[in-house]
Amino acid sequence: MFRKGFGLGSEIAPALTRDYHSALVEWFRNNGFSLTADDTTILLASELGFCYGVDRAVEYAYETRHKFPDRRIYITGEIIHNPHVNDKLREMEILFLSTPDNLEIDLDAVEAGDVVILPAFGARVEDLNALRERGAVLVDTTCGSVLNVWKNVQRNARDGFTSAIHGKVAHEETRATASWARGAEGQGHYLVVRDMGETEEVCRYIEEPGESAAFRTRFAHACSPGFDPDLHLGHLGVANQTTMLSSDSLAIARRLGQALTTRYGASEQARRFRSFDTICSATQERQDAVVDLLAMNLDLLVVIGGYNSSNTNHLAELSIDHGTPAFHIEDFTALNSDGSIRYKPVHNADEIIEPSWLPRGPARIGVTAGASTPNNHIGQVLAAILNLRRVALPVETSSICHAE
Ligand code: SF4
Repeated sequence: MFRKGFGLGSEIAPALTRDYHSALVEWFRNNGFSLTADDTTILLASELGFCYGVDRAVEYAYETRHKFPDRRIYITGEIIHNPHVNDKLREMEILFLSTPDNLEIDLDAVEAGDVVILPAFGARVEDLNALRERGAVLVDTTCGSVLNVWKNVQRNARDGFTSAIHGKVAHEETRATASWARGAEGQGHYLVVRDMGETEEVCRYIEEPGESAAFRTRFAHACSPGFDPDLHLGHLGVANQTTMLSSDSLAIARRLGQALTTRYGASEQARRFRSFDTICSATQERQDAVVDLLAMNLDLLVVIGGYNSSNTNHLAELSIDHGTPAFHIEDFTALNSDGSIRYKPVHNADEIIEPSWLPRGPARIGVTAGASTPNNHIGQVLAAILNLRRVALPVETSSICHAE
């Protein structure tokens, strides 16, 4: 198992620059994250795009290809939730063992000596064990912030606490976290709650236990095998998927703690409840930067990132909650020259077309991007917006980035 990189940073640097660099984003960074020309102001979030975990995972995948030029290389699933980055890996002949529509890993083709990359989200314990049994060479790019969540849920299992995980049950990271919450002997339990609505259902059961069979049916998709609400809701340790909205995670933790107090009394709180805020610092910084941006009197916010990227979706949600229109797009091809935009509305799975999205007169346009969005894709969107507003690019980009 390789976990610390191969020391090939200088060898892969030209490929990373070619595939992900943006001179235009660099220009914004060096000029206070804003550009004003005539009646157009573009404001870029001060924290956006690749986070430290994604940077590391992508670099490690490129290093792996460089280190093993003649080996068959697999990855258990999307390395991060950005279609363009995953396509780059496919171009490097890295083979995917699962798809976004079916996260179950197909191990049939993996043979001893094959190299298998584990993505930034990590992998489930059972998948890791199966790959080891097959004699695969593992390259683990799991983000340190995810490993920190696993440490907490393993401690819960050891101490007899059920892990209440605030996350999306079908997200790779939460699937992996749930598997680690079973603990070393498989003795631990977990329950995944997606939002405050589901949390309220759990809290009502804690406060006034009802029909356990009905509860088990309701949460069958989201709890550990053998989960019994009458036995396993008495000691809770809250953890969260690292990319959830931090205000939601904190509120959910508070509500669960309160339910245990209502049921067992305040004196039992410390013995029965623990909570670790496991939102990663990169997610928090991107959410904070959007809150700052929204305070700048924007007409609208453009959010760039994969539609299945949890942290990107939450950036758009913050904007809508603030009352500022948000347009979540995957890349610059969503911006049409006829003035329309193709985007995913918040809480909707499908894209829609908005015929007219840019103000005709003075406009203050915010731009942000999720932690899995490469700089060149941010730069392409910035260039397209400037073009639609008839503003000249402030920097020559073609010699540095072919994509802009
Ligand atoms: S969003 Fe956070 S947890 Fe996920 S890869 Fe980035 S730093 Fe790691």
